[in-house]
Amino acid sequence: MLGAERRAVATRASDLISLTPGRTGNLSVRRDDRFAVTPTGVAYDRIEAPDVPVVSLAGEQVAGAAAPSSETPMHTAIYREFEPGAIVHTHSPWASTLAILHEPIPPVHYMLALAGTTVPVADYATYGTEALAENAVEAMREADAEACLLANHGLLVTGEDADAALETAVNVEYTARIYCQARALGTPVELSAEEMGEVAEKFESYGQDDE
Ligand code: 13P
Ligand code: ZN
Repeated sequence: MLGAERRAVATRASDLISLTPGRTGNLSVRRDDRFAVTPTGVAYDRIEAPDVPVVSLAGEQVAGAAAPSSETPMHTAIYREFEPGAIVHTHSPWASTLAILHEPIPPVHYMLALAGTTVPVADYATYGTEALAENAVEAMREADAEACLLANHGLLVTGEDADAALETAVNVEYTARIYCQARALGTPVELSAEEMGEVAEKFESYGQDDE
């Protein structure tokens, strides 16, 4: 069940190693009304595809030997609301820095257009709870964004597949970093919603498939 998605979770989970400390964070990939998700509390270089849990959009585990991520309620809620193909959650340090300040990431670099115009902050709730899931959905809905910071916690990013979600996570983390650095040196200049909209349009035809 969901063989390709489980393999994607098992192989791409190692990309999280450079983004988030230890076993923090999680990754899921959806097909129709089910998704494969990283097991809870397993090191990212030790995840085997046959163990990868599969969860229904009702939140029930339907396959896989290992227990699913503690953030399964958040993944389930985001899939139900926005129907992305994949979700990445990290405790990456620069996004988490702004999450601790409860400050959104403003449009200071065009690459942020992968995630929207501004990356909002979802209100704090304990990790793994329905309350955190609701807060994340609400923040993303209000800001019309494909990512959000989780207050005093980390970052949540969606994408059409694992590659896209991971690439957006890397670029949101990069933007958070240069924004923090720029703030330390002076007053960052923001791009307008119109300028970001132009970039978002160009991104639709950016890149070349290597297939
Ligand atoms: P899991 O190991 O259960 O996925 O939890 C990690 C995490 O970051 C919780 O917010
Ligand atoms: Zn977390």
